[in-house]
Amino acid sequence: MALAAHTAVSDFDAMLRQHGQGPLRRARTTTLQVNVGLRCDLACHHCHVEAGPKRSEALGPALAERVLRVLEHNPGLDTLDLTGGAPEMNPHFRELVRGARALGRRVMDRCNLTILFREGQEGTAAFLAEQGVDVVASLPCYTKDNVEAQRGRHTFDRSIEGLRWLNRLGIGAGDGGPSLDLVYNPVGAFLPGPQSELEADYRRELGEHFGIRFDRLLTITNMPIKRFAHDLERRGEREAYQALLVNHFNPATVDALMCRNTLSVAWDGRLYDCDFNQALGLRLHGPETLFELDDVEQLAELPIHTASHCFGCTAGSGSSCGGALA
Ligand code: SF4
Ligand code: SF4
Repeated sequence: MALAAHTAVSDFDAMLRQHGQGPLRRARTTTLQVNVGLRCDLACHHCHVEAGPKRSEALGPALAERVLRVLEHNPGLDTLDLTGGAPEMNPHFRELVRGARALGRRVMDRCNLTILFREGQEGTAAFLAEQGVDVVASLPCYTKDNVEAQRGRHTFDRSIEGLRWLNRLGIGAGDGGPSLDLVYNPVGAFLPGPQSELEADYRRELGEHFGIRFDRLLTITNMPIKRFAHDLERRGEREAYQALLVNHFNPATVDALMCRNTLSVAWDGRLYDCDFNQALGLRLHGPETLFELDDVEQLAELPIHTASHCFGCTAGSGSSCGGALA
């Protein structure tokens, strides 16, 4: 009996049905999230795409051109969200930013901050400011020990310097220019605390100690996949963490799940409902690549590819690339 009950709630679609909510379907697609490649200057413990300095997968010129054409022909796509790896390391990064901004679209850069100090990236911060790019910067804590436990030695000081640099350029300066959002994720196998409380802590600590300003703090739950899953396994915590996610299922998060309005594009052009599905190779139930998609309206109502990792998005206050959901 106990086993049967456990099986039922461990199944994401069954959990949705139990709350009268399934099956999950796509709504209108408004954000094109492009993972431009897996190369990164860091190799963080929690990284769900297992990015690192030795990865070579990268979006090429044909796909860069295709991304801009799809944006041009789909006015409903209001945002180009660039992620990676460190997106700035891709040789087509600036072309994508310039092209999308010239089309009047919002561009977001998911920036790890340390990249701004790497050789060859000296002009990147100024370029982001000049193009009016909204920066989403990962900073898993406001203390040095916690940040470096997750992201490696010397990452904290460079992250702080990076934030101050962006502020000086008017990003996150609170004067109506481009925004600067920070991303928090727990340093272990637990759920993030309330987003508004953490945001107040970050604002106080970063403001008082470093004079840093930012717009919003986004809390993101660690997904039990890839590098974080291997870490959990090594510590014997994988099952307990999955149970934590399942037991904190919150039906109020479902309507706002990011897979409903985001289309995730991989470095090779393949399409997914979200970046996590991309990391797991769970394809979109629709066209295989961006080269076969002309009109994003055709994606509305497609069933979303779900699996047990989806509990990572619906636990507690919920989690997405835009932070908490409920
Ligand atoms: S900075 Fe981001 S992309 Fe790079 S390894 Fe860390 S989590 Fe992955
Ligand atoms: S992992 Fe999250 S965003 Fe992706 S399909 Fe599942 S619920 Fe949606």
